[in-house]
Order: sequence, then structure tokens, then C-alpha cells
Amino acid sequence: PGRTSVADRLAAVEVGALADVVGADQTVTVADGSEVGYVNLDYAASAPALQYVADQIADALGQYASVHRGAGALSQITTARYESARETVRAFVRGRADDSVVFTRNTTDAINLAAHITPGEVVVLDIEHHANLVTWCAPRDGVARARVVAAAPTFAETFDALEAELSAAPAALLAVTAASNVTGEVLPIGRLASLAHRHGARILVDGAQLVPHRALSIVGSGVDYLVFSGHKLYAPFGAGVLVGRSDWLDAATPYLAGGGATAAVTLTDDGSSVDWYEGPARHEAGSPNVLGVLAIAAACDAIAEFGYEEIGWHEEALRARLVRGLDGIDGVRRLDIFGDVRDRVGIVTFVVESCRPRDVAEYLNDQHGIGVRDGKFCAHPLLTTLGHPEGAVRASFGLGTSTADIDRLIDALTGLRTKAG
Ligand code: PLP
Repeated sequence: PGRTSVADRLAAVEVGALADVVGADQTVTVADGSEVGYVNLDYAASAPALQYVADQIADALGQYASVHRGAGALSQITTARYESARETVRAFVRGRADDSVVFTRNTTDAINLAAHITPGEVVVLDIEHHANLVTWCAPRDGVARARVVAAAPTFAETFDALEAELSAAPAALLAVTAASNVTGEVLPIGRLASLAHRHGARILVDGAQLVPHRALSIVGSGVDYLVFSGHKLYAPFGAGVLVGRSDWLDAATPYLAGGGATAAVTLTDDGSSVDWYEGPARHEAGSPNVLGVLAIAAACDAIAEFGYEEIGWHEEALRARLVRGLDGIDGVRRLDIFGDVRDRVGIVTFVVESCRPRDVAEYLNDQHGIGVRDGKFCAHPLLTTLGHPEGAVRASFGLGTSTADIDRLIDALTGLRTKAG
């Protein structure tokens, strides 16, 4: 009695935005006709671009020409920038020196590339975003390859279930998210990597929701493949990445056929004979999304400059305040997968008694100018397991979010419940 918990103390801390993001001063007209500042609480879907990233893209556009093909000075500059982006990304996630860094369209594309190169069965949890679930469930050569393990109420039991599945029969890969896109819960990747390796499997980590918030070291955690998207990392849409061991990548047929992946092509009587490159070019046929890739590299630089420790504190303060606020509103209930996971990124998902998630999201937008996500978050099996197959409401935040934004959401939801009551 009389003691204040760390969470309470954190919740009392007021923070401003940690970084300038594009569109931060956007206003919208709400139902009563007034103009209010728009509050973007949908970072987990796509984070706003950092102003720094936007400036870097503008700069790159000024010296911009074809990549990999031209002898001209601007082509050489663009090619050098594109190739150095691989090194920036590798350093950012502490990749091994001999890892491939393959640029893709997004996380979904990177996981599809991983599915293309993986020579065997894959163990996955049923809590995953569809990108890391249905991609593996799709049969290849007529054979279903995914072995789906149901998450238990605690992570400890879930870990045991994964261990049982991996010991039951050999698997090539354990594919797991580092942070849930529904609840923000962070999984212990180092332990999962050791588990996979103990059973002769590799591990692929879906870092889409973790990398914007927490450091993940490939070398430090023993991860074999890491994938993430630029548009959740404060870069614009259109580029993502797969970083990981090159042997499967070099052994597989190219993910896309076409120019850029071919070292030599000869037409023969019965078709063509193609000598494919090894290395990242093998899976990057066609003109790449140079600006998207440079934007990812710029975002990595900016995040390294802020430092994950600073980012962690910022988001913890916002999260604690939001959780305390939501828990104080009658009829609002937050969702969690596991009872024993403490670490979470800037995502809080909840349901409001007697209100459909879409109605809550529309109310927040139309009456208060607050953008959240509602629905099943591309994780239908998980929402069913959580007892909300009809969906929920998700508030997610990051570098551009302030205490005032969180308070606007809490006040709006308090108002909704007062009206409902
Ligand atoms: N994995 C997770 C955990 C996600 O949250 C998302 C997007 O919401 C994805 C994968 C898919 O990302 P993208 O749409 O960029 O391919």
C-alpha cells in the first residue's frame, strides 16, 4: 500500500514525439465540423516515414539513374548506393559476413522467397500473421509442408509443444514471429533459435513487428534468416529484405526469372540454357526498387542514431500510459496470447463490450480524428483462439507518437463508454 509500481511511474511520464515523421501535422475535420490534429495510431500496419528518410530519398532522386547496368556516372552512383544499402542492413541486424542480403517487395515477399528455397518441412505456430502461416501451408509440388503447432496459454507450454513437434520428425525450418502483430508480445528468439538448432532445423524470424522497436542481432541470437518490411520501419512502401544464410539461396532456382539474375544465356534448339548468378542478384531479377531500398538503409541509419534503448523507453512510457488508461475504462478488455510474456512492443489490442470493432474504429476516426486498425489483423486463427473471431481494435505507435496522442485515445474511449452506459 502506498507504493507506486514501475508501470504506474512510467505511465505518469509525459513524452513528446521522439522523431519528426512526415505528415505529423495533418489535420482532419470531425463530425462536429471542427478541425483537429490527426492522431495516427496505426504504426503496426505502416509507420509514417521519418522526415530524415524522406530527405534522403529526395537527395537520391537528384542523382538517379539505372542500377547495375550502366557505365554512366549516375548509374555508378546509384549502383554503389544500392549495394552499400546491403551492408547498412547487414550491419543494422548484425548479419554474418557471408549472409546474403536480398531485397524483396516486403515481408510477405521475403517469406515467399524463403518458402521457395527451403528444402523440407516447416514448423510454425498458429499465432502467426498470414504471411508467415499460409505461405508455408500452400502445398509445393503437391506436398503440404507446414506443421502447425497450436499456441498454449503460456509461452513455456508453447515452447514445449514446439520442442515435441521438432523432435517428432525432422524439419528443415522453424518459422516464427519475433513480435506478435496482434498483441505486441515479444518472443525469446535466442531460445527459439537454440531449440531449432538442437533439432537440426534452421530458424526464420519474421521481424516485421520487432525491428522497428527492438534490436535483433542475427549473430547474437543465432538466427538463420530474418525478414522485415521498410514500410513498418519508417520508410515508404515497396521494399523489404531477407537476410540470411546463402547456401539454400544459391542452391535454389531463382525466385523470379529474368534479367539481372542471369550471368549467361544461350538459346538452344530445345529452349534456352541459362547460367544464373549466385548471391543476392540470383533472386532479384528485374529492375529493383532502388529508392525503396535506399529508404530502408536510411531508416536503419536513423534508428541506429536514435538508439534502441531510447526508442524502448519512449514506447514503454506510451504503452504503460495506454494500458493504465484502457484498464481504467469499464467494458474495455485488452488481448494477450500468453500469460507469461512480459516484453511487448508498441501495440495494444482490445475489445469494447457491446461494440463492434468497426464501429469503435469509425467512432474514433469520425468523432475524434484518431486512426486505429480494426479487424482480424491478417491473423484469423489467432483471433479465433483469443475468443474474438469477429475481430478487435488495435492501437499501435512509435517514434512520432506523444503522450498527448495516447491521452486523446483514452479520452475518446472513455467518452464512448460513457455514451454507451
Ligand atoms: N508479418 C508480420 C508480423 C506483420 O505484422 C506483417 C504486416 O502486418 C507482415 C508479416 C506482412 O508484411 P507486409 O505486408 O509488409 O508484407
